[in-house]
Amino acid sequence: MTNPTIKEAIDWATPQVIEAGSYPEDIAFLLGERLAFSPTQLKLNQETLLSDTQYQQFNEDIKQLTRGQSPQYILGYSYFYGKKLTVTSDVLIPRYETEELVALVVEDNQSKAFGQLLDIGTGSGAISLVLSEQLPATWEISASDISKAALTIAQKNFEAYHQKITTIESDLFHNINGQFDVIVSNPPYIKTTEKAVMDESVLSNEPDIALFAGEDGLDFYRQFAQQVDAYLKPQGSFYLEFGYTQKDDLQELFEYYLPNYTILFKEDLAGHPRMVKGVKA
Ligand code: SAM
Ligand code: GLN
Repeated sequence: MTNPTIKEAIDWATPQVIEAGSYPEDIAFLLGERLAFSPTQLKLNQETLLSDTQYQQFNEDIKQLTRGQSPQYILGYSYFYGKKLTVTSDVLIPRYETEELVALVVEDNQSKAFGQLLDIGTGSGAISLVLSEQLPATWEISASDISKAALTIAQKNFEAYHQKITTIESDLFHNINGQFDVIVSNPPYIKTTEKAVMDESVLSNEPDIALFAGEDGLDFYRQFAQQVDAYLKPQGSFYLEFGYTQKDDLQELFEYYLPNYTILFKEDLAGHPRMVKGVKA
């Protein structure tokens, strides 16, 4: 029996992946990554035969996809800001929206020759890594997480890109010392009550601690709003990502706890309120 062509392999796997409730588009994504083919190259090579090793790998990948595994965890990497980052089930797969948060921090701060920045809940290290590359080299970047396992992955990514970033194991500000010019975070913000309506692949694969923040999804922001002032220098600023239904709650929270801050909300490219910036007087 000969090995299948790319087209035959995809046609064979598609009904199984659909049947298992996984996403059929992940098949071509995985195969493209394994063969180092762009989506266009994959289309142009539909009649190319898979080699023995490629076919074996394909079978293993499809087995994992049909078990509900996310393609990024199957590969062991994901892309963020065009960079390939190691991801395991100890960290969240970085989301596209978060690139917009990073872009906002860069836009506001790239002309400042020096600064100290803290990224709380760094996960894979995605935010810190890109900021470390995009801001002037003199900036000092610290990346914290409550999860030791996540910090191990972040450290691996920082080393792979030769970025000097300090990692700190800390529950919010608990082990953080000093004051920062910029504090950035994409914290957990999903309501525990939303579990019922969430995508199964997110629920079964991604760490709960990266996603959930209490019954109303605001646990992290509530503590953050109460504590952040002590950790920001005068004129310092914080940048947070949030869920698109949370703007009004956050506005209330920050007006209450940080009445002297200038609070600005920003929408993502999909038009959802997604980021908030707070500037200390
Ligand atoms: N920054 C990464 C990104 O944007 O892809 C990961 C974001 S993930 C939504 C949230 C991260 O916050 C997780 O890595 C989780 O371990 C961490 N985390 C949750 N609660 C925390 C807390 N109280 N203090 C510090 N980190 C926390
Ligand atoms: N936006 C992510 C999701 O929808 C969650 C990230 C987060 O909670 N910060 O799965």
